[in-house]
Amino acid sequence: MITHTQRVKAALEGKILDRPAFAAWGPHMNLVDRNAKDFAKATIDYQNAYNFDFIKVMPNGMYFPEAFGQKLRNAEHILDETWQNTEINAINDPHEWAKLKVPSMKEGVFAREIEAVKRIADHFQGDVPVLPTVFSPFIWMGEMTGGFFRQETILAHFKYSEEYAKIGLRIVNETNEILMEEFVKAGADGFFLGYQAGMAGLMGKEMFEEYGKKYDIANIEKVKGKTWFNMAHVCHGNAELTEWFLDYPVEAFNWADQDPEHHSLEEMRKLTDAVLIGGLNHSVNGSYRDLSIMLKSPSDLSGGDRETVKMRVKRKVEAAIRAAGPKVIISGGCGWGIGSLPRFGLWEEVMEEVGAEINAVK
Ligand SMILES: [Zn+2]
Repeated sequence: MITHTQRVKAALEGKILDRPAFAAWGPHMNLVDRNAKDFAKATIDYQNAYNFDFIKVMPNGMYFPEAFGQKLRNAEHILDETWQNTEINAINDPHEWAKLKVPSMKEGVFAREIEAVKRIADHFQGDVPVLPTVFSPFIWMGEMTGGFFRQETILAHFKYSEEYAKIGLRIVNETNEILMEEFVKAGADGFFLGYQAGMAGLMGKEMFEEYGKKYDIANIEKVKGKTWFNMAHVCHGNAELTEWFLDYPVEAFNWADQDPEHHSLEEMRKLTDAVLIGGLNHSVNGSYRDLSIMLKSPSDLSGGDRETVKMRVKRKVEAAIRAAGPKVIISGGCGWGIGSLPRFGLWEEVMEEVGAEINAVK
């Protein structure tokens, strides 16, 4: 029997086995993601339900700041996003960067996250690649000072309090590297590296080169020999900004290929030999705050008629393979909404049919 790991390794080699690889992640696991046992169980159940070809570990998005003392309000319901629930930031004044120390990996938040990854990896025994989520050190610093909705705060720290921000960057980067090593020891096959291209755009090329990219690449180089599947998730931004990440030493890229502001799979294939991850629209009209949109989760999997949805997905999967070639993993451009979950089985059915058709003409 072909394992999920074999399908991903085949994609890296430009081969398709019984079917092309596919994977999705999302939504966040808001009610269970601050307990290692609960979070691991939810992740294992998710994987067993949908048969994806890799596991993008879906932590609360704020675990790193949380380890530095960020105060988070517990989620009250499944759509109450922990990453939006900061009550007090870890850093509230640029001078506080100078007081920062690398948190323990043996207890507290990082121990919790490492244990969750270990439980997941131990469960699947190498049959499914496990990719913990880590962000760029600069992005983590943004999450520690204001988060996605106040990105200007961290920019101001680097602009007006550069000496302090540089001390912070050194500590955050060191922490990221130690944490990644620990995830690898726990059984990670590689990383889902969250780079917010939108933030890169706000930083501008010069600040990005000096305080973003250099550290990102150093993080990857540090685990390079001990991992085999690292994917750069280039979220937000646009086609031009995505190109700033192209020389990152990763095996795969994932971005919003369905968004007209971004490169298509075909355009991206001209720019890189890496595995391209995409092809489907995970969110036609997404919103972070409107519960009704979160529930409805409009996407390529939406619609009332099973055969119409299936035909749409099939055409898009075939188009993605034509555009990207065999070094492809079918996915969305970011996390899927809760309303998509019941349709993942239909998508798997499409992957099997496409695989059978490819193998029939081989
Ligand atoms: Zn994203």
